[in-house]
Amino acid sequence: MSLIGFFRFLRCSLQQLESKLIQTAGFNDKLGPALAVNGPSLLPHPQQIRDEESSEPSFLDSIFWMAAPKKRRTIEVNRCRRRNPNKLIEIKTNIEPCPECGNLKQKNILCGFCYEKVQKETAMIRKQIELMEGRPHNAPTMETVVLYENEVPREVDKEKRIVERSRKRPSWFNL
Ligand SMILES: [Zn+2]
Repeated sequence: MSLIGFFRFLRCSLQQLESKLIQTAGFNDKLGPALAVNGPSLLPHPQQIRDEESSEPSFLDSIFWMAAPKKRRTIEVNRCRRRNPNKLIEIKTNIEPCPECGNLKQKNILCGFCYEKVQKETAMIRKQIELMEGRPHNAPTMETVVLYENEVPREVDKEKRIVERSRKRPSWFNL
């Protein structure tokens, strides 16, 4: 007898022994022991569960339910919340006229109008420098000085690159 045959024989004899033991204990050999408890009538019966599963899905199943307020808040409560002094815009007291152009600006903050002028002038100077260089990455390794009309380079600026602007120096464009 081969090894596999021996194991089969062993298994068969064990199963026979098990069924005989169950028969002698008074149980049917096809049914095993189970626990039966008298449950409350509120629990759904198996028949009901099957009915619910087979019924068509309700349109309420696809809704994502969110928390909603149960009572409407009165207009007084709403206005108190909206007009709370902590929520109102603060009145600024640090406003002063710009000493250069006269427009109103915040203290210790650069005037927006003057800044725009400086930006425009800087852009013009950059354009002029681009024209002088001819192509990108062609800047000489030296400092650059911007000279306006009727201005002579100082002794310090003699060896620097000079960009000449054909206009009078604006009062707000200092060195
Ligand atoms: Zn200004």
